[in-house]
Amino acid sequence: MTTPCPICRKPANPATAPFCSKRCADIDLGRWLTGQYVVPGQDGEALAAEGEDNRQPPS
Ligand SMILES: [Zn+2]
Repeated sequence: MTTPCPICRKPANPATAPFCSKRCADIDLGRWLTGQYVVPGQDGEALAAEGEDNRQPPS
């Protein structure tokens, strides 16, 4: 008994479970990488740096 692939809902492949294929595994990995690492980190850094720059401009 297998759970369906969370990406495309095809039957999962035992070799790449819980996904149906390596491709779907990569898609899922990319999703949480961009969601938890790249977006909040870059956003926070960019906003903080810009805010300080605008507050005290070098004269
Ligand atoms: Zn799939």
